[in-house]
Amino acid sequence: MFDYSVFTKEIEEAKQKGLFINIRTLESPQGAWLTIDGRKVLNLCSNNYLGFANEERLKQAAIKAIEKWGVGPGAVRTIAGTMAIHVELEKTLAAFKKVEDVLFLQSGFLANQAVIPAITDERDAILSDELNHASIIDGVRLSKAKRYIWKHRDIEDLARALEQATKEGARRKLIITDGVFSMDGDIAPLKEIVELAERYDALVMVDDAHGEGVLGESGRGIVDHFNLHGKVDIEIGTLSKAFGVVGGYVAGRKELIDYLRQKARPFMFSTPLSPADTAACLEAVKMLMESDERVRRLWDNANYFKSKMKELGFDVGESQTPITPVMLYDATVASKFSQRLFEEGIFAQSIGYPLVPHGKARIRVMISAVHTKQDLDFAIEKFEKIGREFGIIK
Ligand SMILES: *Cc1c(COP(=O)(O)O)cnc(C)c1O
Repeated sequence: MFDYSVFTKEIEEAKQKGLFINIRTLESPQGAWLTIDGRKVLNLCSNNYLGFANEERLKQAAIKAIEKWGVGPGAVRTIAGTMAIHVELEKTLAAFKKVEDVLFLQSGFLANQAVIPAITDERDAILSDELNHASIIDGVRLSKAKRYIWKHRDIEDLARALEQATKEGARRKLIITDGVFSMDGDIAPLKEIVELAERYDALVMVDDAHGEGVLGESGRGIVDHFNLHGKVDIEIGTLSKAFGVVGGYVAGRKELIDYLRQKARPFMFSTPLSPADTAACLEAVKMLMESDERVRRLWDNANYFKSKMKELGFDVGESQTPITPVMLYDATVASKFSQRLFEEGIFAQSIGYPLVPHGKARIRVMISAVHTKQDLDFAIEKFEKIGREFGIIK
């Protein structure tokens, strides 16, 4: 008989270290406030940056798509054919991102699995920032290319890695970085990376999951933010964060996307998202193209919250985006702090290893355009109260 207590033991250990993840059940849609355990709590956890997750126009688009297209796509697109709604989303996203073409996939996670092993093999080199997202790390694991890990946002270390890969005879060199790093909110030095890539004839791939809807004109993302259109080879996107729905995509040159339609395994061997999801995504992109009002509100909210928290004496890290890590360092303290916040009506999860390195535990506050000033003041008041209780601030 298999001894299942091995799993229980691991869970007990995680609990003792403050690393057990308490998965809450929501009894309401995403939004500024949630219902959890029958109580209203202020939501500071979601990636619903622009409030699209429960937006009426997106819901109506999804309902209409069900009426027109049904609920299921039937099979993978290479076999059952691709629905016009999927193609329309890809064309609209390409226009929004100012690229030649886009491949729509089931998630941002899968988009990384789709592209990395499809374009690299044992003759190639992958150069990856040490703090890249798990979906990039797993995508890299699926490739037989040689790996070169460079220090976080360190251009000199990337140059060293490129030099080494060149010496070791790599055929292709693929540089991969997150655009916005999701745990600290810092931004990749993309301009410098592109310059280096040109010098070493390398490809540049950026995962813009937390940049879309946040950075650049109307939330076009990090490439637009640095005005690098045409200079970044591959952009990975997700439709589950600022776009508020679910899905992922690869954006780039037509030759690349045509190739991926023949070679990317999550595209070839897994059914696409439903017409309802696809239509909702399409509506979100259209709304962003019509107005940047939500993006501006998001930044106003984030700037307000961060400045108040700094005034109170909290360490909010080096974030350059609305992601606000409230640094507590000790995982047990972070876990208890989160529990106290919940008791006071605030849902803000603590984050510890392996999402961040040991000794870097925090409460990660995610600000959204849907928060009102009263919501933010409520959060600040509770952080102040509990921060004093814990002796984190004076
Ligand atoms: C969230 C995230 C993903 C995963 O996106 P999903 O669409 O939720 O699968 C991929 N990459 C980065 C950098 C992310 O932050």
